[in-house]
Amino acid sequence: MLELAALATTIPVAGGLLDRPASAAAAYGQAVSTSAASGADPTLPDYEPIPPSAFGPTLNANGYYAGRIKGNLYWITDGIYQSMILSTRTGIVLVDAPPSIGHNLFRAIENITKANGRPSRVTHIVYSHSHADHIAAAGLLGKSVLRIGHSETRQLLKFTPDPNRPLPQITYDNHYTLEVGGERLELRYHGPNHSPDNTFILAPAYETLMVVDVLYPGWTPFLNLSVAQDIPAWYKSHDQVMSYPWKTFVGGHMGRLGRRPDGDLQRQYIRDLERSAREAIATVDVTPYWSKYVGESGNSWGLVRQYFDAMARQAAAPVIKAYSGRLAAVDVLTESHALVLIESLRVNNGLVPIHE
Ligand SMILES: [Zn+2]
Repeated sequence: MLELAALATTIPVAGGLLDRPASAAAAYGQAVSTSAASGADPTLPDYEPIPPSAFGPTLNANGYYAGRIKGNLYWITDGIYQSMILSTRTGIVLVDAPPSIGHNLFRAIENITKANGRPSRVTHIVYSHSHADHIAAAGLLGKSVLRIGHSETRQLLKFTPDPNRPLPQITYDNHYTLEVGGERLELRYHGPNHSPDNTFILAPAYETLMVVDVLYPGWTPFLNLSVAQDIPAWYKSHDQVMSYPWKTFVGGHMGRLGRRPDGDLQRQYIRDLERSAREAIATVDVTPYWSKYVGESGNSWGLVRQYFDAMARQAAAPVIKAYSGRLAAVDVLTESHALVLIESLRVNNGLVPIHE
């Protein structure tokens, strides 16, 4: 998912890249070498327009937006990634540090604490999970910061050492309460979903829940059901997210915060896709694919490629139609979701035929 950060400026935010100050594009360095107007390859496909409801606030000249969620809780976005910033009496507790936001974290914190008179030093960082695209700016925070994460996050980071993602010194298994300078976060683990180590981060005083790479307010999830490493558990995590009494949701992605109707909408989209995927498994006839590939040349993977793609196309089509204009980019990624859901229904839910 690291490539996604480099692509950040090719995706319009709040009315289009052309509206953004030139200095915002420059912040991405070599990723943008020409202006948005002349840089597009005319052979690339067009997609359906993004519904205005999917966009968040306009980014500033440095390419970010930071704002208050409630009380002493703030958030920052670059239009694709998000962090949460808790301003306490003794310093800042940061939740995630996406490399695409990078040094803008410090600019935002400076502005926030200038306005509220609280200290700007980052004393703690909470890792939502181990993935670099969400925490690889943690190395910028220096050695004295206290890093907190799930024990599995620590294991994963030990497995693929990265100086940009120093190990958490404080780990937890099921539940951890972080109290700093009169503020409190509750960290909870509900098992694997998108990743084996994904943490639910609750700010009870501000009725806010942060869970990364599950709900994408306003948008269809990232490719292949958010590249979930455990698809049935990722599916179930929608219910776990919605069972918390939050009013504001921080999903770690895209340019705006979530409200409860965003959660209801994505859960319904995924349920509808499951229903359609089950129907595709039951109705797409394997015979022509078997005859062409296995029968003619013994190419079993040819069968898999074409038969699975046919099921995914059939499963996705009615769902794209139903959610077009309500969830952004369903035309872009629903087929990818259908493909991995179909395979998950086969191997995890047992939708496989038994030989006569
Ligand atoms: Zn991730």
